[in-house]
Amino acid sequence: MLNKWEGIVLRAIPYGETNEIVTLFTKEVGKATVMARGSKKQVSRLSAVTQPFAHAAYLVYASGKGMGTLQQGDLIESMRSIQSDLKTMAYASYIAELVDRSTEPYDSRTKGVYHLLVQAFSALEEGYDPAVITLFVEWQLLPVNGTYPVVHECASCGATEGQFAYSFKEIGLLCHRCFHVDARAIPLPPAIVRLIRMFQTVPIDQIGNVSLKPETIRFIQRIVRTIYDEETGLYFKSRRFLEQMERTPELAPLPKREQKKP
Ligand SMILES: [Zn+2]
Repeated sequence: MLNKWEGIVLRAIPYGETNEIVTLFTKEVGKATVMARGSKKQVSRLSAVTQPFAHAAYLVYASGKGMGTLQQGDLIESMRSIQSDLKTMAYASYIAELVDRSTEPYDSRTKGVYHLLVQAFSALEEGYDPAVITLFVEWQLLPVNGTYPVVHECASCGATEGQFAYSFKEIGLLCHRCFHVDARAIPLPPAIVRLIRMFQTVPIDQIGNVSLKPETIRFIQRIVRTIYDEETGLYFKSRRFLEQMERTPELAPLPKREQKKP
């Protein structure tokens, strides 16, 4: 039967000379994989809607939960600015891989991820700091992976007042009265506690462009990525590239003519 789905392209891999297998994240059914026949031909009405990160309305012929066939698509947002900037594109690729690895096809429990993804890519398209937007996605996808860090109270005693540290052992905050529970907990300045709470709970479309110091971003990145490493067992290819880039920020905005030859 013919389905009308609104979705975003997470990835597309070539299949044969001219076809692609495209992984979409849709509003209606969550993640779904479709065959786009001829989408790699020079002139194809499918090429625009199968580009990475494209947001479109799709007509997909699909029966059951097998791979559908993409019939046509109408572009809603091309996400062209994301693709024109290497740094933004690296973060977008990581977000797409995070969503892809965190979800199973046709899992209705994950449909809420669609709004997170659209909001994240729209914010990147509008030029919001990609590292900050990615922190929202990283924190808000943890529950989809079955991990629920306790950040609104002490994970050990439930206290909401005091100084806090992050404990990977307790998967959440520890108050100063409970620091003995985990000697390796990482002390957090109050501002960082507030930021982590924001990343975990505030929808991206309800915030403006948050500007944070690079060291603040790196500190919170290290915490959330360690949670992924320890709790989900997922490995992200795109994160390695991203982390190389984060270590050498001067490489990203370099104009082409000044780049050295390899
Ligand atoms: Zn406590």
